[in-house]
Amino acid sequence: MKKKVTTRSAPPARPFAYRNRSLSCDGASLTALAEAHGTPLYVYSAQQISCRFQLFQKAFGSRPHTVCYAVKANSSLAILKLLGEQGAGFDIVSGGELERVRRAHKPALKKVVFSGVGKQAWEIDAALKANILQFNVESEQELDLLAARAQALGIRARFALRVNPDVFAETHPYISTGLSEHKFGIAITQARAIYRRAAKSKWLDASGVSVHIGSQIRKVDPFAAALDRVTSLVAQLRRDGHNIRYIDAGGGLGIDYSDAPFDAAHQVERYAAALAKGLANEQAHLLLEPGRFLVAQAGALLTRVLVTKKNGAKTFVITDAAMNDLIRPALYHAHHEIVPVRQPTGKATITADIVGPVCESGDFFARDRAIANVKPGDLVALLDAGAYGMTQASNYNSRPRAAEVLVDGTKTTLIRRRETMRDQLATEIL
Ligand SMILES: *Cc1c(COP(=O)(O)O)cnc(C)c1O
Repeated sequence: MKKKVTTRSAPPARPFAYRNRSLSCDGASLTALAEAHGTPLYVYSAQQISCRFQLFQKAFGSRPHTVCYAVKANSSLAILKLLGEQGAGFDIVSGGELERVRRAHKPALKKVVFSGVGKQAWEIDAALKANILQFNVESEQELDLLAARAQALGIRARFALRVNPDVFAETHPYISTGLSEHKFGIAITQARAIYRRAAKSKWLDASGVSVHIGSQIRKVDPFAAALDRVTSLVAQLRRDGHNIRYIDAGGGLGIDYSDAPFDAAHQVERYAAALAKGLANEQAHLLLEPGRFLVAQAGALLTRVLVTKKNGAKTFVITDAAMNDLIRPALYHAHHEIVPVRQPTGKATITADIVGPVCESGDFFARDRAIANVKPGDLVALLDAGAYGMTQASNYNSRPRAAEVLVDGTKTTLIRRRETMRDQLATEIL
């Protein structure tokens, strides 16, 4: 890294920048945070998350809409609270996430949509009792289960079929979901018959149609194509007599994990324009489920260098964070910018693999990466780690999960303490 973490004329894509030659998050010193709370440590900017949420609010402001933040991207209660208080709804994929929304901001329960291919009866019951906005149903069997649970509880269930539009969105194969070969959704060609069958149950209210074609999608054309197909289906369903009020466009808008300039406002505008094109004159209430776009760039994983070593021709920088803290590089070969917290004075770099201490060769953050000549004890930050970082953390190698700090203006708050060995062992029986 040369001078700055990013170079751009648009507002910063990231809240992390050097101040007095030391990396800070909205002005809060990462060195001080590491000293106060230890490492590995997730650090998030509340301002950045709010700002991204408001970009969505503004870009879709002219039509009735609800931004239902995808909880699985980052489910920390403090972040859910932050978004909930600003009016966000939530996209959940489990009963656990429902409980998180309840704890973080109870009034948002009525703005929850429930996605996922394998919902269980207890999860459906909990969501029915919470009177969520809509179930996004992904199979006929699930629809039957939903009708049965709704009848048992005497609560009518609003549902949308999650249709699979058979649209290809260029992204990593593990996070692409909109092709008929994927496990998600119901073929759009079958949807009409299923809505017709559902209309026979008085416990089911066909309130919407939903779609989600994948994650980290950078081109907006696939969103337009998917929504165009959904809009045609909605028109047909209305002719069939169904009272469809919601179109759920899913999430998936990507960010730039590289060091290139990134104008978030412009990206949201492009996205909104693509959706508007797909919707044409359709006036249904629009539901949006962004996850990554709202939180990824607001967060960094702060870690300390433990060891540097040479094995043959290769140099390794071994950090106290590992794949159990941030699995994206190992799982999707994802790129994260990695920057030293102390701003380098010269341009000299080494080329190294930056790895964790876990006993797996897959435990790497970067391979053959040019980085300042860091030494044991130095701090480095893995940028854009706010989404799918902490939520995918595990205890692999019996490592405690990291702590999390939220920077909000001049206030920094520990929002999750570091896990202890007692926490880790609490559920085990000997
Ligand atoms: C994961 C997911 C999202 C969020 O995806 P992002 O790429 O983080 O925006 C939205 N909707 C559904 C159904 C999902 O599974």
